[in-house]
Amino acid sequence: MKILAIGAHPDDIEIFMYGFLSVCLKRGDNIYTMIATDGSAGNVLKTKNLKLIREKESLKGLSKLSKPEFLGFPDGKLSLSSEISEIIKSKLKIFKPDLIVTHSKEDYHPDHRALSENVFNAAGFQFPILYCDTLMGVNFLPDYFIDITKYFENKKNAILMHKSQNPKKFVEAIKLQNSFRACQCNYELGNYVEAYKFENRFPFSDISSLIPHNIKIKSYYKNQKKSLI
Ligand SMILES: [Zn+2]
Repeated sequence: MKILAIGAHPDDIEIFMYGFLSVCLKRGDNIYTMIATDGSAGNVLKTKNLKLIREKESLKGLSKLSKPEFLGFPDGKLSLSSEISEIIKSKLKIFKPDLIVTHSKEDYHPDHRALSENVFNAAGFQFPILYCDTLMGVNFLPDYFIDITKYFENKKNAILMHKSQNPKKFVEAIKLQNSFRACQCNYELGNYVEAYKFENRFPFSDISSLIPHNIKIKSYYKNQKKSLI
């Protein structure tokens, strides 16, 4: 299968989608990645040539998964536009992905929401879409849970490649969030899970055959001594 992940900013794929993509790579999928904006607004350290620095950080962050394509839209200014949708549509015609992974329409960040809407319009009824979790899971009710425990160390190191963004705070946040999602599946502390939901529209009312299924059911009653709750 061909999986195409599209993130709004240079570190989003690492923060929100890295584990899922690692599981897909392991099952033999081809992984493609695109980054919509140039990251020039995330100037935490007041650095010159931030765009270039962030491209290099992305290349390092995603080196185990794929070489990202940079669309170069200005950071902080993404909007719902037919021009952006058409550019994404032209890329989809080239990649022909079996599944697109991107941000949720309910995301907290305006660039993430705008990208999500543009991808939705570009995908039409040709390509199914899977939405990644929002930061801290706000307004996000998942359909699928993916055990990423084996890949969490790689995910952490990938996020840490984004040195210009004070990445430790994102590592701490995502550690909590992926632990919480694991806890929802009754996994013990020290396990990590990413959560996803799909865009339910014709003709993709069931895309479960495209999603890796690696969650082991841990019944609460059988697992009471080990259970966190
Ligand atoms: Zn972002």
